[in-house]
Amino acid sequence: MRHKTFQPTVTFSRWLIVALGMVGGMAISQPLALPPALIAFNSPKGEELFLKSNARDDYWNLSIQFVTQINQAYCGVASMVMVLNSLGIPAPTASQYQPYRTFTQENFFDNPATQQVLSPNVVRRQGMTLEELGKLLGSYPVTVQVYHSADSSLEEFRRLAVKNLSQPGNFVLVNYLRSKIGQERGGHISPLAAYNRESDRFLILDVARYKYPPVWVSAQDLWQAMATTDPTAGKTRGFVLVSRRQ
Ligand code: CA
Repeated sequence: MRHKTFQPTVTFSRWLIVALGMVGGMAISQPLALPPALIAFNSPKGEELFLKSNARDDYWNLSIQFVTQINQAYCGVASMVMVLNSLGIPAPTASQYQPYRTFTQENFFDNPATQQVLSPNVVRRQGMTLEELGKLLGSYPVTVQVYHSADSSLEEFRRLAVKNLSQPGNFVLVNYLRSKIGQERGGHISPLAAYNRESDRFLILDVARYKYPPVWVSAQDLWQAMATTDPTAGKTRGFVLVSRRQ
């Protein structure tokens, strides 16, 4: 009798452990599923688009500087750190890597001129607008061109971005609304790494690596996601071109 009554308890316990494990696993989870319109970089199709890409010069430098944003508001900071390191801009010492110098999301605001634009506490709370992204970058010795989508066009964006992605020494950052490309969900910033002409798609190196893989997105869809209003700024999102200051 004892054995018989004990057995269901064990079974129930096992079921409970498995069930909790599944719930826990979902909570900490793998990257979220992509909508059909997006192509994961790490898929056979994504690989093919990269191998056939005609504008991927920026991928090589960005890929070795690819970082995950350290909090959910730091997409802009993570993107700028990648670009500044890729451009070889003189970096401050990183406390965790002393005596080596590199830009990190922790030391990005060590520069007094950067703090004057926006404090890290404000960015931690609310992220940044496209304009602030441009100003924060401009607190370092780089040349920055900010394009709000309202003042540009898909054709201009495609032309400038494809040219840039084919050249060394400069980079493209995009500021877009995730929900417009079927992702979760608000405003986001990440670097572009490549373009595939045949499919008219750009590769976004998404810095929220805990959430999504890098994706190939159609130029049209990306443009529509940039052609949205950032309520904090009261202006449209868009893109930024960054290069070494001559
Ligand atoms: Ca470039």
